Amino acid sequence: MPEDFVAQCLDCGHVQAFDPLKTRCRVCGSVWLTARYDYESLSTILPTLLRQRPFTLWRYHELLPVSEPQPAISMGEGGTPLLHLRRLGMMLKLEHLYFKDERQNPTSSFKDRQAAVTIAVLQEAGLTEMVVASTGNVAIAYAAYAARAGIKLWAFVTSLVPAEKMREIALYGAQVIKVSGTYDETKQVAAEFARQRGLYLDQGAKSLPTVESMKTLAFEISEQLTERLGAPGTGFPWRTPTWFVQAVSGALGPLGVYKAYDELHQMGFVERPPQMALIQSEGCAPMVHAWRQGAREAEPVRKPRTRIATLATGTPGRVYTLLYDRMSAYGGTFTAASDEEAARAMHILAKMEGISVEPATAVAVAGVIKLAREGVMKPDDVIVINGTGHTLPIESHLLGNRWLKSVSLPQSARNAEAPLSEGLSAALHTLQTRSVPHIAIVDDHEPARILLRRVLQSLGEFTISEASNGREAIALARREHPDLILLDLMMPETDGFEVIETLRADPATAHIPIIAVTAKALTPEERRRLSGRIEKLMPKGEFLTDELLDEIRALLG
Ligand SMILES: *Cc1c(COP(=O)(O)O)cnc(C)c1O
Ligand SMILES: [Zn+2]
Repeated sequence: MPEDFVAQCLDCGHVQAFDPLKTRCRVCGSVWLTARYDYESLSTILPTLLRQRPFTLWRYHELLPVSEPQPAISMGEGGTPLLHLRRLGMMLKLEHLYFKDERQNPTSSFKDRQAAVTIAVLQEAGLTEMVVASTGNVAIAYAAYAARAGIKLWAFVTSLVPAEKMREIALYGAQVIKVSGTYDETKQVAAEFARQRGLYLDQGAKSLPTVESMKTLAFEISEQLTERLGAPGTGFPWRTPTWFVQAVSGALGPLGVYKAYDELHQMGFVERPPQMALIQSEGCAPMVHAWRQGAREAEPVRKPRTRIATLATGTPGRVYTLLYDRMSAYGGTFTAASDEEAARAMHILAKMEGISVEPATAVAVAGVIKLAREGVMKPDDVIVINGTGHTLPIESHLLGNRWLKSVSLPQSARNAEAPLSEGLSAALHTLQTRSVPHIAIVDDHEPARILLRRVLQSLGEFTISEASNGREAIALARREHPDLILLDLMMPETDGFEVIETLRADPATAHIPIIAVTAKALTPEERRRLSGRIEKLMPKGEFLTDELLDEIRALLG
């Protein structure tokens, strides 16, 4: 075991040597042990060391409970990209919105950090078997690293875990045990099994290597933000994001992130921890309920009601209290998103940014959309979403029934000898003729048009035309008779008011519904000019409100 760190009791402060099988304080019996390193010497040597090292989580090995700097089980975990969400950020008026792409870990979630570090610890201690309870992703990550280390894994999963995930765990050679009960009950079964056999059990927040592993996420984020945006100008060399955002179940991620910022602060690298935006699934949100009531302890949710198995921890226990204390001191909020809001966020992120995530991560994105709209997140805030998770086989309820188009080839086109026939182009033509609502976007500002087009495309199937000034808009309306016009009022020369008056005066275009968009408050005279002539007036930038969507649906019939 490494000598240069110790385990300290959170309750009585006693310091003892770390042993993965001795999970209690020798003095008071508490299971809450935390790692302490030699921060003073690390503060001077770490900056130079980091400059020479590759970008994987092992670059921080002096701050991990291992002695081996690059264990043989490594598969390149950590070191994931920090992606700028430009379009989504424009839509939400958040200039610095980032996605820490934890999908790019070996088994596609940030649980690979936990599994890689813990399995390395067990290997150094000579252990050959372990137990984990999981809502899916933890067990997959452990199964992969346990296979690499030759460690036998007993994986207890709830029956909510999708069958594909169970099969993936089994493929790695782990023993899968399905428990028909909630996640909290599954954890109890796994704990009893581990106790009877004297095996190492990952106990989440109570397992020292688990919390330590999650720190690496924060170390990377701060290094990446500093490289991208420069030093923060506070006298500290590393940047802290304004917000760390994550969908939470047991909230190990945020606990590890706080631990990381405590250490970075002790070493003089950062000023303070970020604010946390922690999002739970509405059907299983014990922390959100407690936070809203200002309570320091969370009431368990006995029967989670969410389709999102990954987020089904109903009993947060002491983790909530630990977070409550930190968030009361450093800022942050808990909020909930429904399964439906998550599904919508999943579509938006995939269609606007090319990033496909599992429902649990979509919950985090839905949370950001909410907090941005509520003004809790501000335009200049630097926001990082812990974007993790497998892309599962997409369940059909997420797509509805209009996602697939088919082409039936005529007999002759199937024959390789025959030339491209009339029949083939007729078959392809059917792809274009099915009628979809036609929306015209009128705005003199190109980025605004592109953004609106993306938003509409992410919401459904529309034919979209664009015009960049009032004259073009009038010509377009006369030529194409769109089903709806989204019209910017403030344009040079022929402005939106004139377009409306012209279209309303012409019987051929008088009936076309118009949603007017404006960036500024209107004068009484301007309001009078619009009165009775448009269906709705929207402030610019509020494109994604449910209200606008309902409006569009209603107008399109
Ligand atoms: C594990 C997991 C979470 C929840 O993480 P905690 O920090 O343990 O609450 C969220 N999203 C995904 C995709 C996960 O795999
Ligand atoms: Zn103690």
